[in-house]
Amino acid sequence: MKKIDSENYSADELLEILLEGNRCFKNNTPRVKNHCFNEMKKTLTEGQKPYAMVLGCSDSRTSPEIIFDTGLGELFVARSAGGTIGPNVLETLEYGVSHLKIKLLVILGHQDCGVMKYAMGAPLYNDELENLIHHAQCVKMQMGTHCFNELAKYYCDFAKHRLLAKSKVIKEAYENGSLKIVKAYFTLENGEVEILD
Ligand SMILES: [Zn+2]
Repeated sequence: MKKIDSENYSADELLEILLEGNRCFKNNTPRVKNHCFNEMKKTLTEGQKPYAMVLGCSDSRTSPEIIFDTGLGELFVARSAGGTIGPNVLETLEYGVSHLKIKLLVILGHQDCGVMKYAMGAPLYNDELENLIHHAQCVKMQMGTHCFNELAKYYCDFAKHRLLAKSKVIKEAYENGSLKIVKAYFTLENGEVEILD
C-alpha cells in the first residue's frame, strides 16, 4: 500500500504521484492494494489524511481513484454531473482545504462528457438540467466552440475561476500558495490524464 504523507511532499510532487498512478492505470499495471477492508482496518479507521482533491464528473467511466491508481484514504473527491459547481460541491472542496489541509486540487474534465454534449445541443433558457448546463452554455458561447470535448476543456478553466470567485477559503489558499489548482483532461480512448495548464 502506498502511504503518502502530504507534509513531506510539495504540491508538484503530489501531482507527479497522481500522474505516475495514471500511467500505471493506462499501462494496465495497477499497484494499489488498499481496496479491501483489511487495509482499511489497519490504517484508516482512526481518520483520513488524503493528499489530493479531485473535482470530477459523475460519469461512471471516470472514477478518480481508479484512473489515478489510488486506494482508500488517498483522494478526497467531489463529483457531480459535468463536474459542475453548486453550493455543496463548493463547500466540499472548501472542507478539503480548510479542515483536511489538502494542497492539491485537480479539476478533471473528460472526453465524451454527457453534460457537455447536452449543453452543446440544448436551447438556451432550457428548464431541463438547467443548473448543470447553464454555465457550460455560457462557456460555449464565450469560446465559440462547436466541439463538446473542447468545451469540457474550456469548462475546467471556467471551474477554476468560479471556485476562486465564489470561495474566500479557496481563493486565500490559492493566493498564499498553500493550494495548487491544476486543470486536467481524461481521454477515455487512451486512458491518459493530461494537464491542461
Ligand atoms: Zn462527464
